[in-house]
Amino acid sequence: MTFIAAFIFGAIVGSFLNVCILRLPRNESLVHPGSHCVACSKAVAWHDNIPCVSYFVLGGRCRHCHVKISAQYPAVEILTGLLFILFYVIFGFTPKGVVYLVLALALLVESVIDWRYQIIPDEITLPTIVLGLAVSAMWPEFHGESSRLWGFLQSVIGLLVGGGLLYGAGAITERILKKEAMGGGDVKLMAGLGALLGWQGVFWIIFIASFLGSIVGLYLRIKEGQERIPFGPYLAGAAFFYLFFGQALMAWYLGCLR
Ligand SMILES: [Zn+2]
Repeated sequence: MTFIAAFIFGAIVGSFLNVCILRLPRNESLVHPGSHCVACSKAVAWHDNIPCVSYFVLGGRCRHCHVKISAQYPAVEILTGLLFILFYVIFGFTPKGVVYLVLALALLVESVIDWRYQIIPDEITLPTIVLGLAVSAMWPEFHGESSRLWGFLQSVIGLLVGGGLLYGAGAITERILKKEAMGGGDVKLMAGLGALLGWQGVFWIIFIASFLGSIVGLYLRIKEGQERIPFGPYLAGAAFFYLFFGQALMAWYLGCLR
């Protein structure tokens, strides 16, 4: 029962994430106007707007103009539903579980937008930074600290290390390649991840993202001739991996040092 409830609630949230993915890159309001078909602009009735279900009932087409609806809509809704179940199973209904889930959803939206439009909206990165600082001050145990001041300081250090490293890497590559290498969105995204996950997290995430990025990026460049490879989805993928395996990675690393 709990799983079904989590999935349904997740799918509803996923339906809102779809609105964010569609409207944030165009600087449109998230609430007004209501859902409408992107082809014929006709309003979508509530019974045609039920997460996961409506897409299949309508056969993947608009009721009015019969233009195909992107499969991204049900995909994001189903994925969000599954994420709700996954985070509930792994972290439970705890502050950590809720904060990590919020981060994962922000990363999902950011990845799809960066992949499709090559931008990372401030509407996602700046709240992530604020969330990281606020959470660290409220629950210092996120960073293994017992005092709020130290938790907050850890968060600030993570923010500076994360943002600074990507900014530095971008500036150096820009000098060598003589073209823009790292977007400001990537820098702000990494600053937010650092604020939430601390400076140790920053190193792991950049390491894993570079590894992922060089493999997939190389493939895309050779196979599809793609010029600019967005870095945001790799940072997101690496951060997602770190949420689940960060502690295990740290333990393994410290074991190796000994
Ligand atoms: Zn239509």
